[in-house]
Amino acid sequence: MRRTFLRLLTTVALAVATVGVGSTAVIAPAQAAYGAVKWPATGVITSKVNDRCPGYDNHDGYDIAGNYRSVVSAAYSGSVSFIGTDPGGYGKYVIISHVNGWSTLYAHMDGYVSRMRVGEYFNRGDGIGYMGYTGGVSPPGIGGTHLHFEMLRYNSPQVWNSAGTCGQSVTRNTSIPFDFVGLN
Ligand SMILES: [Zn+2]
Repeated sequence: MRRTFLRLLTTVALAVATVGVGSTAVIAPAQAAYGAVKWPATGVITSKVNDRCPGYDNHDGYDIAGNYRSVVSAAYSGSVSFIGTDPGGYGKYVIISHVNGWSTLYAHMDGYVSRMRVGEYFNRGDGIGYMGYTGGVSPPGIGGTHLHFEMLRYNSPQVWNSAGTCGQSVTRNTSIPFDFVGLN
């Protein structure tokens, strides 16, 4: 089955290449967008977008509860566009800007890696900082340690709730099973 499939692929590739000869057509390799974005932390999903696991609430991202000071990494490659502090809300948070209008937001951070600054480029999977409980977390203090993580497009939080279930364990730098259109 697999061999037949590969042969079929080869045949198609040859056909495409033949068509392309003598023309200016650019043949882009197939790109798997699905799963291109990685979980930024290791822990348990305790909230999703507008869902406090369970129950509707005004909540713009996923919460991943994990160990205090565990590493938080860039979910996708990009440059830091914002570093802020929001004592009653996000606490210490950063936004990384990506291609095609996408950005990611990481909140309640305890602190950052030393090279964290606006304009700094991080590759997908690079550590950016450490999970904490800054800002408004419940319960307060170390017991509320979690990463609040948003996927935004043109500065609007997106809904991607099919990517995980409440109570599910996720591992940092493994694929988020969702197709964020435009992120390959
Ligand atoms: Zn949250």
